[in-house]
Amino acid sequence: MSNIFPPPLVKRLNEEFHFEDKPYFDSDEPSKAALIIVDLQSDFLPKGSLAVPRGDEIIPVVNNLQKHYDLIIATQDWHPAAHKSFASNHPDKEVMETIILDGREQVLWPDHCVQGTKGAELVETLESNKIELVVRKGTDVQIDSYSAFFDNGHKKSTGLAGYLIEKGISKLAVCGLAADYCVFYTAMDALELGFEVEIITEGTRAIDPETFAKKIELFKEKGGTVSS
Ligand SMILES: [Zn+2]
Repeated sequence: MSNIFPPPLVKRLNEEFHFEDKPYFDSDEPSKAALIIVDLQSDFLPKGSLAVPRGDEIIPVVNNLQKHYDLIIATQDWHPAAHKSFASNHPDKEVMETIILDGREQVLWPDHCVQGTKGAELVETLESNKIELVVRKGTDVQIDSYSAFFDNGHKKSTGLAGYLIEKGISKLAVCGLAADYCVFYTAMDALELGFEVEIITEGTRAIDPETFAKKIELFKEKGGTVSS
């Protein structure tokens, strides 16, 4: 079979999803690239409830990047107020403490990106006309979801991988906030799914730059690329 997708993705799609029968899978079109803008929301900007230092600096970069991609996707952290990742929902715990939630380590965050609030909105100055899909994540009270593809336990998919495949996308660039959490885990899941993945460092900022520096090495070891 000849098609535009990287071999690991082809293997997985055929074995698990039987995509060899789908007409859009076998295409002569050149491979396409999508930009995923992760969680560029008011609560993650300076003055927001979970501010990423210098997060506002990336907005013009992200706006400018969009013209280089065939498809633009945004994600939106979108939590119910009772979300278990909020320290406020654990009376004896402090912000940034770690607990075990459903068998996994969970950092306890300040309340952020609560559904329907101003802080959860995409940043006003983000150019949004070209965004074709907004993926909302973190909607399940019981489990956090850093990645745009799966919750942190990989129990439920957001459907994004299937969407990208039907759109003929084989390459992904990831930017947004925060580099060491949602950007990193989105990029890692994309690699594991078989996409070619790039993290754009000028288009992201970390909560903790040292943590991000370590994680980016892991991302590169797994085959990801990094550009400024
Ligand atoms: Zn969150």
